[in-house]
Amino acid sequence: MTNDTGEGLPFRRVALIGLGLIGSSIARGVRETMPSVELLAFDSSAEVRVRAAPLNLVDILAADPAEAVAGADLVILCVPVGAMAEAGRSIAPHLAANAIVSDVGSSKGPVANALKEVLPDALIIPAHPIAGTENSGPEAGFAGLFRNRWCILTPEQGADPNAVARLEDFWQRLGARVEVMDAVRHDLVLAVTSHLPHLIAFTIVGTASHLEAVTEGEVIKYSAGGFRDFTRIAASDPVMWRDIFLSNREAVLEVLGRFLGDLRLLEEAIRGDDGDVLFDWFSRTRAIRRAIIYEGQDVAAPDFGRSTG
Ligand code: NAP
Repeated sequence: MTNDTGEGLPFRRVALIGLGLIGSSIARGVRETMPSVELLAFDSSAEVRVRAAPLNLVDILAADPAEAVAGADLVILCVPVGAMAEAGRSIAPHLAANAIVSDVGSSKGPVANALKEVLPDALIIPAHPIAGTENSGPEAGFAGLFRNRWCILTPEQGADPNAVARLEDFWQRLGARVEVMDAVRHDLVLAVTSHLPHLIAFTIVGTASHLEAVTEGEVIKYSAGGFRDFTRIAASDPVMWRDIFLSNREAVLEVLGRFLGDLRLLEEAIRGDDGDVLFDWFSRTRAIRRAIIYEGQDVAAPDFGRSTG
C-alpha cells in the first residue's frame, strides 16, 4: 500500500466537485473511514450548497471551485457526464501541482477525452463506482453506498502506477472492490449491464403510461406484477441519464441493435407457438440471476428482500 501522507492514508486533502448522491456519499464515506482527511467541496448549484451546509458533509463548503481545490491532492468530479468538461475547466487554473484529478462518470472514454482537453497538464485517473440509487442530491447519499460494490478505474496506458495505486487504496477504504479496465471495454460492459437496462425501463414505463386500453389507475394498482421494479429504475435522474446516452452513444447503439434482434426472436417464438425457445431462453436468464446472488451482488430473498409487513 502506498503511504503518501505519513499516516498510511493515500490522500490528505480531498476536493469534491458536485455534492449530489455520489459526491455526498464519498464525503460521508471519507468521514467514516478516513476521518483525518480534510474534505472540501463545491457545487455549482447555490440551492444545493444551502441544502448541504447543515448536513456537515465537509470541512469547507467552498463558494467557488478555486477555493475547493486549493491544496487538494485528490480532486473528484462528481457532476453529470455532460458537465464534466465545464467542471474541469473551472478548476484548471487552481489545481495544486501534485493533484490527481479523478471523476465518477458513468461513461469513461468520452469523459476522459473531454477532461484531457480542458486539463492537458493534469494527472487524470478516471473512475466509475458501480453503485447508486435512483435518488439525487446531497440528502440522498450514504456512507455505505460503495461497500462491496465494484469501482472501475480506467487509467490511460502508461499512467503513473503510483497514482493508480493511491486511488485504488482510496476506493478500497470506502469499501469498494477495485478493478482496472480499458475505457472502451468499460463503456461496452456498462452499456450492457446498466445503460441498456435503464433504456428498457424508461421505455416500458413510458409505454405503459401511453396505453389507452389499460388505465393509469390499473397500472399503478397492479404494479407488483413486475412493472414496479422497472419504475424504480425509470425514476432515475433525467439529466444524468440524458448525458449518459449522449456520451456513450456508440456502445449503447451497438448493444441496442443486439437487443432488438433478440426481442424480435422472442416475438417470433411467441407468434410461432415455440415453447422450447422461450423455455431455453428463460432458463438461461434464471441462471444469470442465480450467479449474481452467488457473487453477492444481490440478495436471494423473494422480492429483493423487501419487507412484506
Ligand atoms: P446528482 O445527485 O444530480 O449531483 C450532481 C451535482 O453536481 C448537482 O448538485 C449539480 O448541480 C452539480 N453540478 C453540475 N454541474 C456542476 C459543475 N460544473 N460544477 C459543480 N457542480 C456541478 O448526481 P449524481 O447521482 O451524484 O451523479 C454524479 C455523477 O456520478 C454522474 O456523472 C453520474 O453519471 C455518476 N454516477 C451516478 C450514479 C448514480 O446511480 N446516481 C452511479 C455511479 C456514477 P445542478 O443540479 O444544479 O446541476
